[in-house]
Amino acid sequence: MKQRLKLGKISGIPLYVHWTFPLLILYFVYDGLNRGMDAVGLLWLVGFILTIFFCVVLHELGHSLSARWYGIDTEDITLLPIGGVARLKSMPRQPWREIVVAVMGPMVNVAIAAGLFVYFWLSSRSVFHGIPEAAEELVINGSNFLSWLFITNVGLVIFNCIPAFPMDGGRVLRGLLGLRFKRVTATKVASILGRICAIGFAVLSFLPGQSPFLLLIAIFIYFTASQEYQSVRTEEALREKTVRDAMRTQFTMIPIETNLDNVVPYVTTTAEQGFLVVESTEYGTDLKGGITRPRIVKAIKRHKGQENFFEKYLSRRSKVKGFFMHELMNDKVRYLTPDMPLPMVYQEMMQLGIPVMPVRENNELVGVLDYYQVREFVKLNS
Ligand SMILES: [Zn+2]
Repeated sequence: MKQRLKLGKISGIPLYVHWTFPLLILYFVYDGLNRGMDAVGLLWLVGFILTIFFCVVLHELGHSLSARWYGIDTEDITLLPIGGVARLKSMPRQPWREIVVAVMGPMVNVAIAAGLFVYFWLSSRSVFHGIPEAAEELVINGSNFLSWLFITNVGLVIFNCIPAFPMDGGRVLRGLLGLRFKRVTATKVASILGRICAIGFAVLSFLPGQSPFLLLIAIFIYFTASQEYQSVRTEEALREKTVRDAMRTQFTMIPIETNLDNVVPYVTTTAEQGFLVVESTEYGTDLKGGITRPRIVKAIKRHKGQENFFEKYLSRRSKVKGFFMHELMNDKVRYLTPDMPLPMVYQEMMQLGIPVMPVRENNELVGVLDYYQVREFVKLNS
């Protein structure tokens, strides 16, 4: 998540606000102006939104600090127009712990609402003080501010209870399923239900009087549900596996002087997805880098002017320029050993952007591991 501004740190956790966040404020201001609000009304409205997001930060801290009990740190908390996201460095694997971490977010809103309720009760004012009965429009002022704050916090609790994984309710559901089923199965069920809820939200968002944010939330849930399922599936398949389990011991190496005119046989006579690029010297062969089959294929297409419209103008990946292997290959070389843990290596492949890695044992090249092979390994082992 780039394009965000750091606001500071709370309990050692960096707090960011995404650049789209002010769009939320602008939307409400625009909406308020349309409804004929004056400057004072708009100020109350903006102040209210900021107060809600302060509650959202506290909610995310509820997750982060309870994860800390279990020794899990939080990477950061980011405020988006659709709410807050606390990125935990990992998720508790024990179902009960996941349930506790998921519940502690909404519990913060329960506590805020309960505090307000006690205040209303002590000062013997109605919970809905200053809110007209047909309150279709959000008009905030000094007399109803706390009532709206109460209602919104209760609303946040209810909304978070919907079992739309990866929202809190969905995480509780996955935890409960995890008590009986394997983690992958629990995540699969929760993520399917999450996507069904997301479709439901998307449909609801088109009903009159709904804000566009429900649609954004729906899209967010839909994609993160799929993504989280994939990452749990990968995590489980790679757990306790080493490079040796997934590496290829028979592999083809492409000489660095190869160009697009004579690279075709390498692609057509093998099924390999990742190749090492080598240079022959008088002392032997030197490893110069790696290249993937999709990259070669794209470069050939581009060279022959066969890219389609999408590849030519829209896809970033297709901007493969060059004719010779040394221009096309990835020149970063990261040597692996067969006993390295596979999850760590896979993460490195993505973080460092090195899709093909040579495997060396006792100073000898014994295999190749590429990104696609790991993906295939995940498919076969989950
Ligand atoms: Zn939450």
